[in-house]
Amino acid sequence: MTYNIAIDGPAGAGKSTIAKKIAKKLGYIYVDTGAMYRAMALYLLREQIEPSETEKINVKCMEADISIGYENGEQIVYLNGENVNGLIRTEEVGNMASASSPNPNVRKKMVHLQQKLAASENVVMDGRDIGTCVLPNAQVKVYLTADSRVRAGRRYDELTQKGISCDFDTIEKDIIERDRQDMTREISPLKQAEDAKVIDSSHMTIDEVVDAIIALVH
Ligand code: C5P
Repeated sequence: MTYNIAIDGPAGAGKSTIAKKIAKKLGYIYVDTGAMYRAMALYLLREQIEPSETEKINVKCMEADISIGYENGEQIVYLNGENVNGLIRTEEVGNMASASSPNPNVRKKMVHLQQKLAASENVVMDGRDIGTCVLPNAQVKVYLTADSRVRAGRRYDELTQKGISCDFDTIEKDIIERDRQDMTREISPLKQAEDAKVIDSSHMTIDEVVDAIIALVH
């Protein structure tokens, strides 16, 4: 049997940073499910589809082959065989991911891939519906959240450090809109699993959050 840790929460709560550290400490594989939805979004944007064109998304998503692999412990997302890690972290792709992820065809593809991975490896998986839908039997479930201003500040720092110029208020507005879309969609909305432990990281350091989750594992 494999050991699965599920971490869900809104954009910018620190899920990926924390999940990566936990995976390293425990020798598990880190699965970033948001990156898979982002790769699909990149495909749709390249096909010149608008976030509002739900019918086109429904059809076109079937043509995209998303898979993941690992190089030196880092997750690589492939879109039709191309490594797209360097192309999926923009706000445009994030917003398209949020708009296209409610599509049932998109979700079916992604959830299947995620469940297959978790059945064959010990994983720390982060996303929106991991504890509620993808891995309902995960041994540890965490709902990681933080104040929207704090989350916008983290995204802002992350982007400016990479040399990408951005506007704080636009980022916060995008984050709030993304939360709204993710929480109110009909299929697999972002919500806390009943058996998840809630951690608010607004006033915690990364290591404090990591230690709190490792304590749950033990
Ligand atoms: O976590 P990240 O910001 O990379 O995710 C991008 C988008 O992908 C989210 O806003 C959400 O709409 C979607 N997503 C999802 N289910 C997941 C992970 C991400 O619907 N498990």
